Amino acid sequence: MEPTFNLEIITPYRVFVGTASEMIIVNTIDGELGILPDHEPVAAPIVIGPIKVKIGGKWKNAAVSDGILEVVHERVTMLVGAAEWPEEIDVARAERSRARALERLKDTTVVWEAHRAKAALLRAETRLKIAKGSTP
Ligand code: ATP
Repeated sequence: MEPTFNLEIITPYRVFVGTASEMIIVNTIDGELGILPDHEPVAAPIVIGPIKVKIGGKWKNAAVSDGILEVVHERVTMLVGAAEWPEEIDVARAERSRARALERLKDTTVVWEAHRAKAALLRAETRLKIAKGSTP
């Protein structure tokens, strides 16, 4: 059996993952980070995008919103705004969300509104990619 660490991915709505994992690949503000057992301690902001986790020998993809990551003593904890497996994603909803965000981006000149619309666009595009089975 491959060595594992304890992985917890928590959203405001549920414990998305709470199990042993062999590896996780996430996007942080400094770029892609792959974590294996025995990883050095890390705390880093996570950006909206795809993640890959290996659980029980199988790789799974998921979409996550932004959040934070902590690695300490064989325990990896991620607190994120939202997380979904491919089969949970409502594609029509993500398409509506994407269209709304594009409209807002076209209409607004207000910096914070544009920033929020870009984040919404990125969440929707990540969900669409993950739902369609595109691997990160
Ligand atoms: P929307 O505009 O459709 O609400 P959003 O990006 O603003 O999208 P979030 O705030 O990131 O949504 O998520 C709120 C909750 O809805 C979370 O539980 C998230 O997992 C879920 N969610 C959002 N979009 C989808 C989707 N397309 N399919 C399934 N669950 C979704």
